[in-house]
Amino acid sequence: MKSKKRRNTLRQSLAVFRYSGRAINLVWTTSRTMTIILATLTLVAGLLPAAIAYIGKLIVDAVVASSQGKAGGDSFVNIYPPLFYVGLEAIAVALLAASQRGLTISQSLLRVLLGQRVNVLILEKALTLDLAHFENSEFYDKITNARREASIRPLSLVNRTFGLVQNALSLVTYGVLLVKFSLWAVVALIVAAMPAFIAETRFAGEAFRLFSWRAPETRQQQYIENLLGREDYVTEIKLYQLGEMLLGRYHNVFNQLYGEDRDLTVRRGLWGYLLGLVSTAAFYVAYAWIVIETVFGKISLGDMTMYLTVFRQGQSTFASALTSIGGMYEDNLYLSNLYEFLEEKVIQPWGNVTRGSKPQDGIRFENVSFTYPGSSKPALRNISLHLKPGQKLAIVGENGSGKTTLIKLLTRLYTPDSGRIFLDGVDLQEWNVDALRRRIGVIFQNFVRYQFTVGENIGVGDVENLDDSKRWQVAAQKGMAQQFIERLPQSFGTQLGRWFKGGQELSGGQWQKIALARAFMRTQADILVLDEPTSAIDAQAEYEIFNHFRAVTQNQMVFLISHRFSTVRMADKILVIDNGEVVEQGTHEELLADGGHYARLFLLQAAGYQ
Ligand code: ADP
Repeated sequence: MKSKKRRNTLRQSLAVFRYSGRAINLVWTTSRTMTIILATLTLVAGLLPAAIAYIGKLIVDAVVASSQGKAGGDSFVNIYPPLFYVGLEAIAVALLAASQRGLTISQSLLRVLLGQRVNVLILEKALTLDLAHFENSEFYDKITNARREASIRPLSLVNRTFGLVQNALSLVTYGVLLVKFSLWAVVALIVAAMPAFIAETRFAGEAFRLFSWRAPETRQQQYIENLLGREDYVTEIKLYQLGEMLLGRYHNVFNQLYGEDRDLTVRRGLWGYLLGLVSTAAFYVAYAWIVIETVFGKISLGDMTMYLTVFRQGQSTFASALTSIGGMYEDNLYLSNLYEFLEEKVIQPWGNVTRGSKPQDGIRFENVSFTYPGSSKPALRNISLHLKPGQKLAIVGENGSGKTTLIKLLTRLYTPDSGRIFLDGVDLQEWNVDALRRRIGVIFQNFVRYQFTVGENIGVGDVENLDDSKRWQVAAQKGMAQQFIERLPQSFGTQLGRWFKGGQELSGGQWQKIALARAFMRTQADILVLDEPTSAIDAQAEYEIFNHFRAVTQNQMVFLISHRFSTVRMADKILVIDNGEVVEQGTHEELLADGGHYARLFLLQAAGYQ
């Protein structure tokens, strides 16, 4: 039982080195030259201090020898040996300074390179993740943990590992010098150092656990910073006078975190001091021992000088080794977070079909059901529908009835739990994702308002033709955005949004027209998905847009989600969903004649317009 506990303690202490290898590998692959320089300089900087201490001894011994010669009545005093050693020490000190400066320079450069490298690794990984990952708050914590301090931790670990090697080299060489005095002194010093070492790793582990648990709070703080600092939130926060309340929450989160921090820091400091005292005491006992030996003439004055230097520097080297270890533990644990994120398993899409077997079949849903991860209630239940090439489908239903979810399944952002979706006779899962996505143009309710130029905002609809200004114009015309774009100060070259210099803000309706144009950039897309694309556009303009829309999308399948029946009625087919289930399906006329759900909602809205 006891030995198991001891083994655990040992393992916990050795965990300090767990990620050092990976960190060094990361640095090595980032820049080989720089790693070699760093390693060499570390070696030099580790060995020189002991050499300097030894030269110090040689100086004193040489001085003593010379002055004894003089006292002995020699007429010739040889001052050259001491001076020679002084010169040698000066050179060694200059070399040490050079290696330390070199270390600082290469560390600064590596920090920049490594920061970029790690950030790119994180972003590349983020690109491979599913939507579900981003909607999961635990996973979000992982990303937050990985991104926070991403640019400094790996290098910090490498620096500390190398720093520790440097310190260890110095301590070993000091030890070699000391062994000549007494092996027991060396052993006693090592044993006395152990408690401080173990305490340091323990507290560092605790600090890390605190730091990972806190990801949700840290994220909350960041969110509030975001709310208070971003232009898109400013109007509402001012008008609802939310500023004070948000700042209050920010303070509360901080106070809670600070309390925990303070306790740990104080505890860590006190224990570190007390256990450090043990090793300091051991140091000074050995120190006294050396002084006594010198007084009794058992060792030379030069030896004593050397031992004194070794002791003074040994003490500070030891302290800095302890600090390295404490920090390394945190770095290690940070890196474990980073690698946990980078190694998160992502199911690779396996489909490779690029062309369907029955191009005339269009899109088919067969008994599709879906429940969001972590939710107990299905968002969609037994959905079946069929849309032939060129047909337009409108989806009607109350908020939360599952319309957007249906679109997420169609675009393969999520996979159905049961049932299947076919495109041109082939199951969506068997399609090559890129080929599939090329065929779909989507405008979601929360489409992105890129802080780019107007042209690029449209161009992102087809990234391969992002800068093709002719295509922008055609797409803008189809999305009915041409007119207002031409009135903008630099037309398609106008910077949008307020983040960057000269940015112009658009109205909600204008942004929606840009989004519509964006979907038309995808000329290869024969499936258009519009999730309430015109909610910010007035009813008259919407009616015009859709009349026009029908004309420009004759060969395309359209999935349209809208709450406006004037638009919905133009669709070839209407699907009414309620609570995740299809309750009615048919043309406008058929559904009206049925006198069901749709008819009731239609008449309600029509009455509102009269
Ligand atoms: P609609 O588009 O018809 O307004 P949605 O398809 O967005 O409705 O939502 C359908 C149901 O699924 C709702 O009950 C909603 O709360 C739930 N839901 C939507 N998105 C998520 C999600 N990412 N995670 C869990 N539940 C969700």
